Amino acid sequence: MKYVNEFRDPEAAQWLLLAIAETVNEIGSTKDNPIYIMEICGGHTHTIFRYGLDRLISSGVKFIHGPGCPVCILPKAIIDECIKLVQKPGVIFTTFGDAMRIPGTHKSLIQAKAEGADVRMVYSPLDALAIARSHPDQEVVFFGLGFETTMPSTALSIQIAAHEALKNFSVFCNHITLPSMIKLLLDDPYTKLDGFIGPGHVSMVIGTHPYDFISNDYRIPIVVAGFEPLDLLQSVLMVLKQVRDRRAEVENQYARVVSEHGNPLSIDAINNVYEPSSIIQFLDFKEINANRLRIRNNYSNFDTERKFSINRCIKTVNLIEPKGCACGQVITGQTKPIECPQYGKGCTPEIPLGPLMVSSEGVCAAYWQYSGIRTTEISI
Ligand code: SF4
Repeated sequence: MKYVNEFRDPEAAQWLLLAIAETVNEIGSTKDNPIYIMEICGGHTHTIFRYGLDRLISSGVKFIHGPGCPVCILPKAIIDECIKLVQKPGVIFTTFGDAMRIPGTHKSLIQAKAEGADVRMVYSPLDALAIARSHPDQEVVFFGLGFETTMPSTALSIQIAAHEALKNFSVFCNHITLPSMIKLLLDDPYTKLDGFIGPGHVSMVIGTHPYDFISNDYRIPIVVAGFEPLDLLQSVLMVLKQVRDRRAEVENQYARVVSEHGNPLSIDAINNVYEPSSIIQFLDFKEINANRLRIRNNYSNFDTERKFSINRCIKTVNLIEPKGCACGQVITGQTKPIECPQYGKGCTPEIPLGPLMVSSEGVCAAYWQYSGIRTTEISI
């Protein structure tokens, strides 16, 4: 397949693996003293496991899997709020397929649907808009979640709803800015890393400059990468060369898609519709300043929180994670999925305990699908 096969070429991969091994030798890193590289994006995690890059690459490099899966960073408390919404009379609740399977404290959205709630899977917020137009007597809520990749389409749906003066459409806004998640990681004293593989899709929207603080303030290299195996290998080599040369820069391996300044139309839509809010509670009882966005006052009629008087004073939310669940540590790269006591026991793709096993981009789902390991490596 043109434009794909070139990025999966075995000979080129071999050459890159050799170059990586040479650079690792020049740095002097070893299996016991490796260079830690975090791939932020769940799509990259899946490429690494699907093509076995973690096994092919020099043992002097260790991948740490980061928090760049939008479904994976949703706390149960948010799903609990969704469940309350779907139980209101006349509400049609719409969301992406992955979000329907995230466990809440007592049930997931798909379980609520099985019990009779009107929960509908959509592929785009524009689908939710169409449902609102065809059901004028019902309230249609779209569950807006994700990083900058999905923010523009949700923003666009709100702009269209405002233009059409739709009265029965609103967005439960749970979008989070990815750079704020990265800052959270960098400020965490338990985080150990030497470089980042930057997200391709998010960067397509925001460009590369929002990462400048990583190199300027934290002196850590970051290379924005594409999603094919050669993209990943080349990006690892670029990070390693920065480490070897004691540089900390923002580099762009994915220049065929990502531009320095991103997509101005998308950025305008984001800035027009959203503004930063304060705090969202993160998995594993961590409280973070992750810049959850909220809908601006101009569009308050389309804000589910205001329309349904949802008081999401997050500090009052009682978050109880399942016993032994390590989602918080896994999502921040401190623990591997197979070190979670629930992996393969209480948590499988069929019956997920945490969101990392639900999403197609989740790191636990990637381990399950590609590693062949079906049980935890430690006992409860
Ligand atoms: S195996 Fe399940 S409970 Fe453990 S970290 Fe992964 S998603 Fe969370």
